[in-house]
Amino acid sequence: MAKQIQAIRGMNDCLPADTAKWQVVESALRQLVASYGYQEIRTPIVEMTGLFKRAIGEVTDIVEKEMYTFEDRNGDSLTLRPEGTASTVRAGNQHGLLYNQEQRLWYMGPMFRHERPQKGRYRQFHQFGVEVYGLGGPDIDAEVLMMSAALWRQLGMADHVRLELNTLGNSDERAAYKDALVAFLEQHVDQLDEDSQRRLHSNPLRVLDSKDAGVQALLADAPTLMEYLGDESKQHFETLCELLHAAGIEYTVNPRLVRGLDYYNRTVFEWVTESLGSQGTVLAGGRYDKLVDQLGGKDTPAVGFAMGIERLVLLLDTLGKFDNLPSVADVYLCAMGDGAVAAALQLAQELRQNVPGLKVMTHCGGGNFKKQMKRADKSGAAVALILGEDELKQGLVTLKPLRGGEQRQLSKDALTEELAALAQS
Ligand code: ATP
Ligand code: MG
Repeated sequence: MAKQIQAIRGMNDCLPADTAKWQVVESALRQLVASYGYQEIRTPIVEMTGLFKRAIGEVTDIVEKEMYTFEDRNGDSLTLRPEGTASTVRAGNQHGLLYNQEQRLWYMGPMFRHERPQKGRYRQFHQFGVEVYGLGGPDIDAEVLMMSAALWRQLGMADHVRLELNTLGNSDERAAYKDALVAFLEQHVDQLDEDSQRRLHSNPLRVLDSKDAGVQALLADAPTLMEYLGDESKQHFETLCELLHAAGIEYTVNPRLVRGLDYYNRTVFEWVTESLGSQGTVLAGGRYDKLVDQLGGKDTPAVGFAMGIERLVLLLDTLGKFDNLPSVADVYLCAMGDGAVAAALQLAQELRQNVPGLKVMTHCGGGNFKKQMKRADKSGAAVALILGEDELKQGLVTLKPLRGGEQRQLSKDALTEELAALAQS
């Protein structure tokens, strides 16, 4: 036998048992965004490398070491998208969707980052995200957070995630704070780990979310950005907090929350869980008012978030939320004898047409009664239908409940009625 070729490390197949779980999540997401009046945007998976360098920032984990970058046959440097915001802004600018307009958008699809694969961290993963353009106030920040909270409620996991919130102010405030932070950190260079020392001058804010315990301890005494906020930024943040409070959404303010991408300003947030080990951030986002301009468009305020679907599915699975997924079939239709095959295929077709939503699986491949019943049971169907010589002669169908109940023979009309009730339940 020839040697099998395996999938690429960190890039997973999603097999039928898992796609059923994904579909539950995906349809909840589609319902959610529809109920808020958001529209879907789809962008290519590959973009010019320069787009991500400019949007995400040269001195970020993603651009420094995680991108799948390659040369196209005509010499262009292309990159598999590591996130969705840059592409959304690029498309919005290119097609004139942003300036002087309001857009409430969402997307869902694969992203690519060359990271060390582990539970909740993969090289191809999937994000669902929303991006809103043209609205600069805290009310829309509150809406996107309320939307995410509604999702947790709908999926029955609200008790297992909590919201962390922070504000990064505007660029002047951040610049003043950066100076103060750098001055503080320079006095303690010897206590910084290697990454933080490197970041001290290239991207000092990122030192704040260092995972190093020594750095974390040191930061307890560092100045915080809150102290450097002007009135407008303070007001924006305070109003957002009030709106969240009015909506009954609990949060903690985490002054060290800065996010790994450079484009954020003002509001930043993460929904985190304690149930997934160190890959605890399920959803993250914030405001990014300067990005549209930075990518060549006209100044347009923007806010959004991205959610890792793998982490959400993992969490829901851990919580047992997929224990009662619907079965593949409601009805399994058996044909006894060659003469019944055509009639069975025909009957299945009629049932699908007459009973909307009913899942009908027809037995194919022949075999005796025992074999067909085994398949019927395995399909998870609630009932088996049997069509044989006798039934055909009498114009009836035998209905055999597979999960308890009496076997009986029914006319087609009575059968349709009975199955309509089953499809409703
Ligand atoms: P982390 O701190 O876990 O690396 P991040 O800050 O890089 O996350 P974002 O770029 O904000 O993450 O992406 C938003 C969400 O996408 C994350 O909160 C997470 O749920 C998911 N995500 C990010 N990277 C991966 C990955 N490699 N595999 C699976 N999910 C991911
Ligand atoms: Mg990351």
